[in-house]
Amino acid sequence: MATLPKAPCPSCAVPHALLPTKRIGYGSVKDHKIEPRALVLCPGSMVHVAYAEARAWQLEFERAQQDAAASTAVEEGLF
Ligand SMILES: [Zn+2]
Repeated sequence: MATLPKAPCPSCAVPHALLPTKRIGYGSVKDHKIEPRALVLCPGSMVHVAYAEARAWQLEFERAQQDAAASTAVEEGLF
């Protein structure tokens, strides 16, 4: 199972997942807000960060996608 590296956001320093980019060795910080109900994204969103900066790996994002896929498979099975 693939995992995503997590690195601290260059703007708010909160660890976020790095999404793959075409730039080798770099990931793009996942869109996020500084506060949960903020209307604007953190300025660090989508900023490229070197994978070498990653300090953790996250599985939750993958699991959420798998759960979503599993629920759609069940719905399709009803028809
Ligand atoms: Zn941030």
